[in-house]
Formats: sequence, C-alpha cells, structure tokens
Amino acid sequence: MAKKQPKTESKFIRVKCNDCGNEQIIFDRPACRVKCLACDKILAEPTGGKADIKTEILGVVDRDV
Ligand SMILES: [Zn+2]
Repeated sequence: MAKKQPKTESKFIRVKCNDCGNEQIIFDRPACRVKCLACDKILAEPTGGKADIKTEILGVVDRDV
C-alpha cells in the first residue's frame, strides 16, 4: 500500500493588520476577500490565483506536518 501525498502549491501566510496590529494566518489563494478578524479591514483580495495582499506580510507558515 503506497501512500501518495499530493503536492500542493498553496500555503498559508501570516499577516499583520496595518490598522489594528492584529496578526492572523490567511490562505495564500483565497476564494473570497479576507478580512481582519479584529477590525474588518480587507487584508487580501482574490485574483484568481495568488491573493493580492493588502497588508504587511510577516512570513509563510509551513503547515506541512
Ligand atoms: Zn485589523
């Protein structure tokens, strides 16, 4: 039984809200707008591919466990 792990291009990124300083982890390729959980500011907009990040990016989160 061979286990295949599909390679995914998508990842999560850690961002910081420019308005309130809230940090949250968002998806690299969101299907819809991503808002700050604290103040509702738009953090990222979908472009059909990679998100258009509107705020400060702190880094990439490696969710590969
Ligand atoms: Zn905010």
